[in-house]
Amino acid sequence: MRPVMFMGQIQAFENDGADYIIERLWDGGIRELVLGDLILRQGDTQGPSFAPNVDFYQGCEKQPPQLPTDLEASSRIFGDAVKAAADKGFAIYFHDWGQFGWFESGSCLNNPEQVRYGLARTRDTFAQYPDTGGFVLDGPEYGYEIEPGHRSDIFGCFCRHCENKARELGCDFAAMQEAAERLRARLSALSPAVMRGFIETQTGPFDAVDLLLQEPALFDWIRFKTTCIEHYVGAFYRGVKEIDPKVKLACGPRISAFAPLTGYNYRRLGEVTDFIAPKLYFWQHGIDGLKGTVFRYAKTLVELNEEVDEGLALDFVFKLFGFTMPGVRTLDELSAPLNEAFFRETVPGEIAKMIFRTGPVERLKPWVGLHHGGVRISSNELELLLQAIVASGLQSLIYWHYSDMSEEEWQVLQGFIS
Ligand SMILES: [Zn+2]
Repeated sequence: MRPVMFMGQIQAFENDGADYIIERLWDGGIRELVLGDLILRQGDTQGPSFAPNVDFYQGCEKQPPQLPTDLEASSRIFGDAVKAAADKGFAIYFHDWGQFGWFESGSCLNNPEQVRYGLARTRDTFAQYPDTGGFVLDGPEYGYEIEPGHRSDIFGCFCRHCENKARELGCDFAAMQEAAERLRARLSALSPAVMRGFIETQTGPFDAVDLLLQEPALFDWIRFKTTCIEHYVGAFYRGVKEIDPKVKLACGPRISAFAPLTGYNYRRLGEVTDFIAPKLYFWQHGIDGLKGTVFRYAKTLVELNEEVDEGLALDFVFKLFGFTMPGVRTLDELSAPLNEAFFRETVPGEIAKMIFRTGPVERLKPWVGLHHGGVRISSNELELLLQAIVASGLQSLIYWHYSDMSEEEWQVLQGFIS
């Protein structure tokens, strides 16, 4: 196993010393680094890691952020650290290099400025750090949560950029929106009998086809999302290859069970990336954890449908996503540590699905993390997770993240490096 280390706080080089970090990781067996976000902070000042070359942004509506004077020294330290790491022999990738988020005009991936500005930022970043080996996109993805008011709302996006994109693709935007609303209504009209019927009778892919034939506009909506993501990531892929064919592009979708819901099809994504980095995130609560999503789905279904209890809601959610969590019968139990059966059954199942959908394992470097908010995964769970990953045949992963890693966790990770 050859893990990649994610440096989620790039000022670690400044705070801990670049030489120390480079030697520590190299001696531990790490040979690839993902660096990002490319943001620096000093006191109240926050800004990008380099001063932009405005020539790259001609034709963009928005201009790039300037490097504040207070951050110039930190910028030099980071630039030197990137160079030193590359000279040592590390492959360097960037994650969230400021390709989006610097402008206000909506974060929708169908805003054409996202690609225009994003590619300008990518060219500028590569010019600043010519040792760059690649870029790892974090999403973009469509919402996946049914909990009302959640930041990742499944019932979006229907903004004007999406409407324009739908017109361009010949999709019936209004029909897709109506299908989304019908889905919303259906989720609050689920009787225990209908849920039990779904759990007990649905067994294979043509059951899903049957459901979608009943609601074709819903399938059109999912197809629309997948095409939008393919176009967005594809634009970055072509842009990156124009810089240098050797530079890689990767993308990090959610885990197999949730990916289609967010608009991701691993095989199609594989055609516009060099590798993909699905999120093997299993924590409760917080952002993007599997238990958190199961919890929010089941809790919302209980709240929306008064005759539905937790056990039935959980069984429904497991059936919907095609995995189970051995021993989990209540929402409270999702806050307990993951048991060995989960790592013996559920995790291998999700990884096998990931490999089946993607193809060669060389094209997979899943994100592995312990939390993103929420309940932190313990060192013991990390060990069980890494055992499951190694047994699955995967050859790499991206460890999230260096500055959050305890000495004990570093020891556990090193035990799997060969
Ligand atoms: Zn939109």
